[in-house]
Amino acid sequence: MRRISVFGATGSIGRNTLDLVARAPRGSYDVVALTGGANIARLAADARRFNAEIAVTAYPEKLDALRDALAGSGVEAAAGPEALREAAARPADWVMSAIVGAAGLEPGLEAAKTGATLALANKESLVCAGPLLIETARAAGSTILPVDSEHSAVFQALVGEDVARVERLIITASGGAFRDWPLEKLATATVAQASSHPNWDMGQRITIDSASMFNKALELIEAKEFFGIAPEKIEALVHPESLVHALVGFCDGGLMAHVGPPDMRHAIGYALHWPDRGPVPVERLDLAAIGRFTFRAPEAARYPALALARRVMEQGGLSGAVFNAAKEEALTAFIENRIGFLQMAEVVERVLDAVSAREDLENAVISLDNVRAADHLARQTAAETIARAV
Ligand code: NDP
Ligand code: MG
Repeated sequence: MRRISVFGATGSIGRNTLDLVARAPRGSYDVVALTGGANIARLAADARRFNAEIAVTAYPEKLDALRDALAGSGVEAAAGPEALREAAARPADWVMSAIVGAAGLEPGLEAAKTGATLALANKESLVCAGPLLIETARAAGSTILPVDSEHSAVFQALVGEDVARVERLIITASGGAFRDWPLEKLATATVAQASSHPNWDMGQRITIDSASMFNKALELIEAKEFFGIAPEKIEALVHPESLVHALVGFCDGGLMAHVGPPDMRHAIGYALHWPDRGPVPVERLDLAAIGRFTFRAPEAARYPALALARRVMEQGGLSGAVFNAAKEEALTAFIENRIGFLQMAEVVERVLDAVSAREDLENAVISLDNVRAADHLARQTAAETIARAV
């Protein structure tokens, strides 16, 4: 019986993970911790269904509601960031890191310290603190398996290969909700319009990040950190069908492409069954019916986030933590109608400029304290920038 925990169990990735766990033969998994945020009803229902040892909500003010919902179940209830870290430190064989945003970093680090296999959906932790997370995992003997579909695709294409022979990594992008909009119209894009994805069903924040390509920007940085490949070898390519998830180009000119339906259960299932492959109930593609795959270069004017990612990849150090925090604040401000769609990239650029001018981000040590400080400074600077922008 494998002991597993799911951080962000009430979210899109978390629910898909539990869907696979529920389908496994009885007795395959023993659930240690499930965590969520505001969705107490769902967290409690799943903690009961999977007979978890502990359920944790991120929000202390929700603890009473969680206790009530778990009454008589035998499942422990806890709340707050410290409880999340404590739950992550409990021994488990496999931990899904699927909290959204920088809040996922510390639970992920704690889980890595235990030596557990870490299935990493939370790309933000690699963007903010890639070297710290990777070194923590290495020191504890923890394997990190990428769950982001593009990175899972690259990981699969690299099995048995030498990364030194990789010439290029091509990360595909659907182009998001506004890929075919006239550029002049983008400034008027609403939250509702940005929250619908043409191909993938995901949480609201990553869906809006797909429309702006901030998601792809995070993914380029994630690829650099995770695979240790030089920034100039990593590219984004628009592929509206979302069926080819990534391509890896080798020094002999060959490209290995990973093809599959846009269903996160493939990448989650790959991480769950790794190093084996196990059955996953995703649609089987009818390639003759699909007929063709199309690709095009991303337009720089439509997706300014990509140039910002390039800058962060070159700058390195703590610039990823600043970039991610500024992006999170700009995204929240957009969701709350405080800034327009195109202002998100402007805010992030200004924050990167301002914080880079004040701090030596490139050469800073990537410790947890420094990442927290950079995150804090970036959020403060973003709040000031946003206040000035409106
Ligand atoms: P969702 O918004 O659907 O879920 C986020 C989860 O995190 C929920 O369980 C939520 O709880 C919890 N949460 C929210 N805020 C906090 C916080 N401050 N502290 C602790 N927990 C919190 O997100 P997704 O599932 O879409 O994404 C999760 C991660 O996976 C992200 O890093 C995303 O980039 C990545 N990812 C997602 C993909 C997808 O298909 N969805 C694809 C590739 C990567 P609650 O809902 O109860 O408030
Ligand atoms: Mg992805």
